Amino acid sequence: MNTKSNQNTVVMKFGGTSVGSIDGLEHVVEIVKQAKSEWQHVVVVTSAFSKVTDVLLESAIQAARGNQAPFLWTLEMLKERHYKSLHHFNPADEKLVAAELDGLILNFNHLVQAVGVLGETTPRALDAVVGLGERLAERVLAAILRSQGIPAQAVDATHLVVSDEQHQTAVPLMQPTREKTCQILQPLFEQGIVPVVTGFIAATREGVPTTLGRGGSDYSAAILGVVLDADEVWIWTDVDGVMTADPRLASDARTVPELSYREVSELAFFGARVLHPKTIRPVVEAGKILRVLNTFNPFHPGTIITNEMDTNEQKSSIIKAVTAVRGVQLITVEGRGMLGVPGVAARIFSAVATTGATVPFITEASSEQSLCFAVPVDMTTAVLTVLNKVLTHEIEDCNIDRVWASEEVVIVTAVCPQMRYRWGVAARIFTALAESEVNVLAIAHGSSEVSISLVVSASDLETTIQAMHFLTINGEV
Ligand code: ASP
Ligand code: MG
Repeated sequence: MNTKSNQNTVVMKFGGTSVGSIDGLEHVVEIVKQAKSEWQHVVVVTSAFSKVTDVLLESAIQAARGNQAPFLWTLEMLKERHYKSLHHFNPADEKLVAAELDGLILNFNHLVQAVGVLGETTPRALDAVVGLGERLAERVLAAILRSQGIPAQAVDATHLVVSDEQHQTAVPLMQPTREKTCQILQPLFEQGIVPVVTGFIAATREGVPTTLGRGGSDYSAAILGVVLDADEVWIWTDVDGVMTADPRLASDARTVPELSYREVSELAFFGARVLHPKTIRPVVEAGKILRVLNTFNPFHPGTIITNEMDTNEQKSSIIKAVTAVRGVQLITVEGRGMLGVPGVAARIFSAVATTGATVPFITEASSEQSLCFAVPVDMTTAVLTVLNKVLTHEIEDCNIDRVWASEEVVIVTAVCPQMRYRWGVAARIFTALAESEVNVLAIAHGSSEVSISLVVSASDLETTIQAMHFLTINGEV
């Protein structure tokens, strides 16, 4: 945790696992207490308790299909978890807060009943339903902080964050958000009160509730950090910052102390459990300090994310971090007749786009006789069908010989900013893989030179990660 004194404003967001258990909440209290003694203004942003958003979504979807069972179970679960946490800390206003929670849960009850009657859910209706998790968490957390001697007040982000009308993935409108946030939070700051704000939710100019996309609480913290001109934004999670690899695959995974925005974007895109680049962009662009910290190990310095082009140090490892996307297949379109024919790639990818499949990896050799790309396993059949249809003539004329899908594969991406400055980085990576007897099926290395992606068989995942992770420790160049 940061221990500098006389700082002005810090916005700190706690994730679902941080607030979702008594143990987590006890840590949260200590963290906020400490921050309050060091910072002039502290703003807390909270996610819903762990798993609550998933359950709320599922209840609404099932209710629309006429299945009320998950919903009834959800009502009980919501009460049980939130009341238990509240009761544990024994706040003086427990009854009052419990009554507020009751009111919110009753409202949810009505909303889901209505969804059941209509037999359908719209994005707008879902937004009204799923924000409940944050609204409950915010009230419970504010009461808990008060019970521990920290002046705190729950504030619904629907009063602060103004967004467009894109339900489920709303985009904040910064100017009105700035005006509302300053207007509402300033008086609280003047009284030394810590605002406890709901992550994830916002409202349109007309006051209709929206949500900022799954995992959107980080986004909320970034938005508030920017509009309040905070010095730092801290994301409290349940690991020691951004790790060099998934600890389940590499037991010696460590924290990466410093990452640039671009490096973190590569990692997030390629499946690491880190911040979503979109969500942290506002705060990084504004030049604020962003830290990823561990609620359960608060004195660990975690990871700092900076606005630098990259965090190249003179003497550092070849690889900073390695991550994997699982559950994909490679689709290959091959044929001698593709050579020099303009527009083939455009037709292929337009066709793929019609299936809604995302394409996380593309490569084409300069022979122009085969093009390959990855799609999620569950999209393979649809993609093959549409390609065979769109390329019928080329296939009939033997200009395209085959369109086929590989077995299940994984894309392994290494973030290695050194590549921009030094030779031999790729050589070291491929030597390490050769020594581990891993067969590389495809490679993509963009001109950004911040990362390299390789495709290997799904059964080689662990060996590949371990061989590459070894270079995060021992691969100095
Ligand atoms: N509760 C929301 C979700 O699970 C937002 C968040 O946790 O960041 O997506
Ligand atoms: Mg989250």
